[in-house]
Amino acid sequence: MKVLTVAKTDVPALLEAIAAQRRLIAPIEDRMGTSFGEVSDPAAVRLDYRNTHLSSKEVVFPQCETLLRFRDDEAEDALSEERETVLFGVRPCDARALSLLDRVFTWDGLDDPYYLRRRQGTIVVALACREPGPACFCTSVGGAPAGEAGADVLATDLGDRLLLQAVRERGDALLEDAGVGEAASDADVEAAKQAAESAEALLASVKAPTDLERLRATFDSDVWSELAMGCLGCGACTYSCPTCHCFDITDETRKGVGKRVRSWDTCAFPLFTLHGSGHNPRPAKDARLRQRILHKFLYCPENFGEVFCVGCGRCISNCPTGIDLRRILERLEQLVSAA
Ligand code: SF4
Ligand code: SF4
Repeated sequence: MKVLTVAKTDVPALLEAIAAQRRLIAPIEDRMGTSFGEVSDPAAVRLDYRNTHLSSKEVVFPQCETLLRFRDDEAEDALSEERETVLFGVRPCDARALSLLDRVFTWDGLDDPYYLRRRQGTIVVALACREPGPACFCTSVGGAPAGEAGADVLATDLGDRLLLQAVRERGDALLEDAGVGEAASDADVEAAKQAAESAEALLASVKAPTDLERLRATFDSDVWSELAMGCLGCGACTYSCPTCHCFDITDETRKGVGKRVRSWDTCAFPLFTLHGSGHNPRPAKDARLRQRILHKFLYCPENFGEVFCVGCGRCISNCPTGIDLRRILERLEQLVSAA
């Protein structure tokens, strides 16, 4: 596998070479801070950001997408040809989140063709974190500031250069096609390793509950009312989360012509579980917050063997009332270990 260094002054040339052959999506400054967007000017790409306001999941799982179009009784699917895409400079937590979404959208042999078409056509270049943000806790949930999960290439900022390490075949092919950079030395690789260790040392440890049976036993506990007290049910936590994947499907029809649309939805909204009968199995916000937490820390470990949180901290920094997932986890761990 290729291991290259590219001088910072040559990074625009690298991005141009990538964009000449594939669609390039990278962090770009906008009114929200830094967000992923299609790159038209490589000079606008920001690699000195901590993390984006929203995650990169929209690249493979759009907020809203048409699944099929219909007229009366006839329908045709809306699977579109996707141009091969390079998602450049995504943080390792977001890259790892893509590998978790892969598990959902291929679960039990039920492959989702809409998701898979995009995901299989997306090459991921992860950018190792040197300075984790104040709300980050990736190492407490199985990740790392220089983790490779979900990535095809791992990039590390070495000051005046970028180290690019291909970690999967298609990452290797990407670096080969770009034709920019020179072979890295052992000292470069060692410098990246040390940078990763220093970044890890900056991360605080969060004790999340791992005893699934005892966590399940909290289902009827009053702790959920306590934890949900400040929750507004706004959904900012779930919409900005790179691993949340709930969606709704609606038909938009006019005079027999229409389309079937899939849109993100969230367990934070009462309408999410409202039945046609008027019954709502999660009528109050404590039940909805409980669902969000148990889905990630109990049901996903049961179904997929992994916690569905990558510790990106977005739900913490985006919550308007300051609800902090780290404190929720610690409170639950306290409860579970005292049981
Ligand atoms: S962002 Fe905060 S207030 Fe909004 S739904 Fe999530 S936990 Fe509740
Ligand atoms: S639950 Fe919060 S910290 Fe965990 S991945 Fe989602 S947004 Fe990030």
